[in-house]
Amino acid sequence: KVRVRFAPSPTGPLHLGGVRTALYDYLFAKNQGGDFVLRIEDTDTARYVEGAEEYIEEALEWCGIIPDESPKKGGKFAPYRQSERRDIYDRYTKQILETNYAYLAFDTSEELDAIRAEYESKGEVFSYDNQTRNRLRNSIALSEEEVQRLLDEKTPYVVRFKMPVDRTLNLVDIIRGNSAVNTNTLDDKVLVKNDGMPTYHFANIIDDHEMEITHVIRGEEWLPSLGLHTLLYEAMGWEAPQFAHLSLILKPEGKGKLSKRDGDKFGFPVFPLDFKDPETGTVSKGYRENGYLPDAFINMVALLGWSPANDKEILTLEEMIQEFDLHKVHKAGARFSKEKSEWFNHQYIQLKSDEALLQIVKSSGLNLNIEDEKLLKIIHLMKERATFPKDIYENGKFFFEAPVSYDEKASKKAWNDETSDILKDFAQKLEVTEFNSEALKQQIHDFAEDKGLGMGKVMMPLRLALVGELKGPDVPDILELIGKQESISRINNAIN
Ligand code: GLU
Repeated sequence: KVRVRFAPSPTGPLHLGGVRTALYDYLFAKNQGGDFVLRIEDTDTARYVEGAEEYIEEALEWCGIIPDESPKKGGKFAPYRQSERRDIYDRYTKQILETNYAYLAFDTSEELDAIRAEYESKGEVFSYDNQTRNRLRNSIALSEEEVQRLLDEKTPYVVRFKMPVDRTLNLVDIIRGNSAVNTNTLDDKVLVKNDGMPTYHFANIIDDHEMEITHVIRGEEWLPSLGLHTLLYEAMGWEAPQFAHLSLILKPEGKGKLSKRDGDKFGFPVFPLDFKDPETGTVSKGYRENGYLPDAFINMVALLGWSPANDKEILTLEEMIQEFDLHKVHKAGARFSKEKSEWFNHQYIQLKSDEALLQIVKSSGLNLNIEDEKLLKIIHLMKERATFPKDIYENGKFFFEAPVSYDEKASKKAWNDETSDILKDFAQKLEVTEFNSEALKQQIHDFAEDKGLGMGKVMMPLRLALVGELKGPDVPDILELIGKQESISRINNAIN
């Protein structure tokens, strides 16, 4: 059975790239009829950020990317938090030390600084690898007795991977195809820190094995680790999962990785939800709080690096699951676009029923003080022009309050010496008209004809009186919605 995991480290909020990884993990797993697992990789206590795990879970939930197994939900392979899996790692640390793929290193940071400086003075870069490991204090360079003495003295040590000499590794990636790397270019990474906790590399492959993960889909920043990971599977005698590395999400201008600072600079969100940095207290903007609909958001994210058949753009999560194909994920970076994000949201607002939008508008925390029936009509008239739910009432303010001033340019265009008299007569007609938009439309029409006026001569000043500018939906619709009394009072205000 296909099993895919999303394995974030709780070092901060989930960014757009992380959401996309999680989404592709999920889409692939579900497309294959498999499981999607959320695993929290929190072995690096120095980079741990309070609240980040909760943030990640809440963000995935908002997106509708629901794990089959997770720290919160549990599952067959629990615990799903690496900090709680220490006994498992201890067991495998013992195992790898019995092979020829790992050794103990006792070097202090002072010793490592010294040898680094020595290389630098020669204009070279030091790397703890098969060229240099014999010069350092570790169980390869030291005699067995010496190692035993250090252990007896309780000298702190780390476990390092012993990178084989001059081997060419063939790496297979579902998206990128085949590549090769020579082990001489790789160093002896730390597998277990001196507090006994494994590093990312070791914990990651242990858990992928233990949790029976079949496909690892993750960001391309992990591609340089693929050689090491492949060898770790070999060292442990395990079959490796298949790998797929996703390209970067690029800045809108196409160069460089999209960063949190781009969001701050250009005023668009780069996180699914608002995130308050627990240290600085600064809030980074989230899609949710900015009025994006979750289905519009994930649709946008899905298409950052994947094109479904026929270049279809609007897909439900279910359709994405049906169509998702890792082989169709792009090798090149995907350029982020704020305009495209907004376009998706606009499209999804059009797809929502008026009733669904009513619930969304009402839950946006605004106290509109207006009965549902009326709000529903406003939504119906305004959604066509709305990118965000708030646009419905921000662009439709005139439904709730009379204009306090009139746009100057619009006034010049719509108003002349006769206008006041025309509107006064029209207001009298309104007193006796049935107040629905059909009848009102007819009324305006008849009135204009009677007076021998073009429709614009009536419609434009009427709109100005009602709205304050020459915007908004059809005038008869506005009249109907704001009602007889209010319509007449606005016309009178405009005349005087
Ligand atoms: N914990 C790693 C991260 O934060 C996981 C990388 C992987 O998927 O292997 O990205």
